Amino acid sequence: MKATDARRRGAARALRPSSKLLPEYTRAHNRSLVLQTLYRDGPLSRADISRSTELTRVTVSDLVAELIDESFIVERGLRDESRPGKRATMLEIDRTGHQMIAVDLSDDTAFRAAIVNLGGEFLERCEVPIDGALGNEALAKALAVIDMARALATAPLLGIGVGSPGVIDDLGVVRVAVSLGWTDVNLRSAIEQQTGLPVSVMNDVNVAVLAEHGFGDIDSDDIILVRIGQGVGAGVIVGGATFRGSRFWDGEIGHVTVGTGGGPQCRCGRTACLEAWVGVPRLTAELDRLADEHDRERFLRDAGEHLGIALAPIVRTLDLADVVLSGPADLLGGAFLRAAHDTLLERTMIGDPDDLSLRMTTLGRDNVLFGAVVLVLTGQLGVS
Ligand SMILES: [Zn+2]
Repeated sequence: MKATDARRRGAARALRPSSKLLPEYTRAHNRSLVLQTLYRDGPLSRADISRSTELTRVTVSDLVAELIDESFIVERGLRDESRPGKRATMLEIDRTGHQMIAVDLSDDTAFRAAIVNLGGEFLERCEVPIDGALGNEALAKALAVIDMARALATAPLLGIGVGSPGVIDDLGVVRVAVSLGWTDVNLRSAIEQQTGLPVSVMNDVNVAVLAEHGFGDIDSDDIILVRIGQGVGAGVIVGGATFRGSRFWDGEIGHVTVGTGGGPQCRCGRTACLEAWVGVPRLTAELDRLADEHDRERFLRDAGEHLGIALAPIVRTLDLADVVLSGPADLLGGAFLRAAHDTLLERTMIGDPDDLSLRMTTLGRDNVLFGAVVLVLTGQLGVS
């Protein structure tokens, strides 16, 4: 699905629930089921929802009344039917009833935020320049961009989703984010205290892969997104569920050594880290140095091959079908990407290129903001 279509539909595929539901969660689960069904297939009648969810008509009517009352669902006229008899009242998601704040702290130059309606449409955007701020100063700027966004909201806010660089635990504490000078910063709590709104915080690359699954041009449930910028990180969805390690270092592949024969110097002090091979600073510096078009292509192919070497065991072990790259398309989108794909196919014994897709993200630099929307929809409404 194209991003624009996704925005129009507000559509997003569901992540598979990773645990069994306890009885006390049944009502919340059923609410989510009704909303998810309307997100996916709306407009629908009460009877359609009952058939699709296998909930009784009484339960559906009861939940629908509650959701209309809370401005999450709206009645949209009667079904067009040529048949005689009573025509059913159609229901759909009330896209204007609530708004969300999506926040992207991953950019090198500015913290960015957007006001998004329940249909996934971006209504307003704002940003605050980072200007090299670190520690508390950086936190103040992150809070400032959220304040700016709040002032732009024109409907009740459902919550705030944040994609931030760093190693982030499941309570929203940034254990470490070197680029922002953060160690054990309770980002979720700081934002909740300032706004009084529910807040979800996740690593930016994990957020970006959520966006790819929910809004991107992808059909599979087995995806790795590799973000290449100053550093390199990955986010993984396996079997439709986000893949998280219990120590929260999942996807931190930037300083994994690639190859055995040495390689470029890494900023961490070692050599031949993946980041040293394919990070944007190296790609840009080498391309600036190389005048000949063939040399430039050969260099990009070599860098892409190193990415393929690093990813091959991951792709095969996790049975991934889609590899998505996020980063500057002018550097990554041509020879680099083709070489990475060739290498992946060679090294995984995946014979048919159609069985393993590798391409650039179709969501562009908004992928973290889209993912932040998924965080709020999942956290607050149980839909994604
Ligand atoms: Zn390194």
